Amino acid sequence: MTVQSMTTTRTSDVDGTLAQIYALAGAGADIVRCTCNDVEAAEGLAHIVPRSPVPIVADIHFQYRLALAAMDAGVDCLRLNPGNIRKPEHIRAVAGEARDRGIPIRIGVNAGSLDPDISERYGYTPEALVESAKRELGHFESVGFEDVKISVKASDVPLMVGAYRLLADTVDRPLHLGVTEAGPPPAGILKATAGMATLLLEGIGDTIRYSLTADPVEEARAGRQLLEALGLRERKGLDLIACPSCGRAEVDVIAVAGAAQKALEELNLPIQVAVMGCVVNGPGEARGADLGIAAGRRRGHLFVRGQVVRVVPEEEMVDVLVEWAKRIVSEGVEAALADADASAVAEAEADRMALLEDQGTDANETAATIEAIRRRG
Ligand code: SF4
Repeated sequence: MTVQSMTTTRTSDVDGTLAQIYALAGAGADIVRCTCNDVEAAEGLAHIVPRSPVPIVADIHFQYRLALAAMDAGVDCLRLNPGNIRKPEHIRAVAGEARDRGIPIRIGVNAGSLDPDISERYGYTPEALVESAKRELGHFESVGFEDVKISVKASDVPLMVGAYRLLADTVDRPLHLGVTEAGPPPAGILKATAGMATLLLEGIGDTIRYSLTADPVEEARAGRQLLEALGLRERKGLDLIACPSCGRAEVDVIAVAGAAQKALEELNLPIQVAVMGCVVNGPGEARGADLGIAAGRRRGHLFVRGQVVRVVPEEEMVDVLVEWAKRIVSEGVEAALADADASAVAEAEADRMALLEDQGTDANETAATIEAIRRRG
């Protein structure tokens, strides 16, 4: 399962484009697409491809000759939009060349640029997107070209999900997923995640791209994080979990979680860390995390896989969390557990019991709320 992103630089700006490709690869992109919109861009690709840390896809619209030029430049893959390269002889010329050179092609169907006869017949439906992909696929198959990936993107999430489901039932080809023109984050990330996660959990999809109106590094990061969250990729970065806070919170959870995220993201450690607002429920609820901290009576209870290893003053919570995160990444969980402070468990339990005594088992005062509701009845 691979993450794709796309550069926003002019491809003729070789150094600028390469800098962005390196940034995208660092954030989690496995494949990067660059526009090949003129001859200067194709020449830029000739410089970029040999120096890129990841495979390069040339994005082609309207001018099939630029697809031929991109192949001359050595790109690893082409993306063609059937909505704007329409002449079968042009498609076949590109397919024949790609076949001879062993270069795969993605048929990138977009709901916004369907052939008029298809949109007239099917409207903007999953059937229209799939029909367009099948028509294009026919041109490639007519010259014996098989190395095709397909995408059927739409900005409407239910339409996109329906189109990919139908496509997966109809053709046996690798599929590239995306919600096109998803917009700026955070809404754009939500929209794209809704569509792609639904499909990935059904086993549909081979590559993904977040199409965000943002720095493409955000796209690459979101793609990596989605695959990590779904267990489709080994975690390479931080996974910070934090409770939403409630009436039991002993600390400003939003502030502590924010400070921890900032400090840990700078280190880019592959670890799951929990920040919990209270020691009554925190360590238990986050026992699956590699490391966590919960607040209680102006102290922080540091725990490793749910076991308390230290009790520290509240103002040291973030620093201690960072120190132990580094330690777990370099020495492992077992070594961290072996270094648990023998008195910490008893101290932590004493804090927990004292809090339970202060707050009772109903810190959110649910019983009083229910009583009030009943009085209305
Ligand atoms: S009970 Fe504690 S850990 Fe759970 S949400 Fe409330 S403050 Fe956070």
